Amino acid sequence: MEPNECAARTWLIVGGRSHEPGAPANQPITPASSFLHGTQRSYARSDGNPTTEALEALVGGLEGGRAVAYASGMAAVAAVFDRVPTGGEVVLSDDCYHGSSAFALRGERLGRWRLTRVAQKDTGGWIEAASRADLLWLESPSNPLLVVADLPAICRAPRASKTTVAVDSTFATPLLLRGLDLDADLVVHSATKAIGGHSDLLLGLAVTRRDDIHEELLEQRALTGATPGVLESYLATRGARTLALRFGAAQTSAGVLAERLEAHPKIERVRYPGLASHPTHALALRDLAGFGTLLSFDVAGGAPAADALCSNLRLIQHATSLGGVESTIERRARYPGQEHLPPGLLRLSVGCEDTEDLWRDLERASRA
Ligand code: PLP
Repeated sequence: MEPNECAARTWLIVGGRSHEPGAPANQPITPASSFLHGTQRSYARSDGNPTTEALEALVGGLEGGRAVAYASGMAAVAAVFDRVPTGGEVVLSDDCYHGSSAFALRGERLGRWRLTRVAQKDTGGWIEAASRADLLWLESPSNPLLVVADLPAICRAPRASKTTVAVDSTFATPLLLRGLDLDADLVVHSATKAIGGHSDLLLGLAVTRRDDIHEELLEQRALTGATPGVLESYLATRGARTLALRFGAAQTSAGVLAERLEAHPKIERVRYPGLASHPTHALALRDLAGFGTLLSFDVAGGAPAADALCSNLRLIQHATSLGGVESTIERRARYPGQEHLPPGLLRLSVGCEDTEDLWRDLERASRA
């Protein structure tokens, strides 16, 4: 079966498997750096590994392109930035994962590229940048403010021949958004998050339809050695099999919690693309197949009250990262480079626990 012959949730089950008679039902873990001479494959760093290729086939099929897997989401981010010629221009949103902005700032400091920041909502600014920059880097919805970018307008704006548009779809997953269909050149995922789904691995993916970019990514990965481990590739493939089920359950809870938090007297503001009050709700309705599993909210009383809420939780884990079966929460302004965020802003990644248990935990912790 080909990915375009079935729904995403079916491809998640059938993709990345051999259908040869007698083949193992799951692509086995192949712990080999070297392969005997005689085929195209002799060394895993440069020629790939069958365990990782199964994951690449699975995620590539979901996004409608060809995927290259990396040792982490940041390794995938770095591989895409690495394509920018020295002295070129990178355009980054005002709201994005702090690791990506720290990496972009570092490149600027080292004289590697020029960095321009454009507000996620400034579609005109992005369209203008597309006519001159080397790389447009967008996250949609963004981390942690959940702002949805007008990707159809930005990706389809006239662009310079050198300009590439990359979309970090970690929050959306391929279930909500297929960036390549909107004419993005690249889609990036931290599979550490929802794709892996169990907080037990680090892995990243970059996906493209362009043969030239695919070749460059493979060469870059071979030369920098940012290859994922085979256990991680296996676990990510296994985790991805249940992505649609996990994501669907978590997304339903996220919608309920967002609405209830919005009515809560101790919460000043909730950001969730599914809420009518969200500044980019209309774009989310138009462009996303759902509103996702992440929300952020500002606790009245700022940082001390938000910290107290986190430490009073018993079910939701006070931990970083997101996209796991377990719900996690943290105050984002705690990180260097994130001081511009509201001090009491908590980012909640909703997992697969019972919705009412999650609500009771939040309610009780906010009263304590
Ligand atoms: N992109 C986004 C949106 C993220 O949230 C993260 C990590 O939180 C990354 C990329 C980096 O992924 P990793 O931690 O797997 O390197």
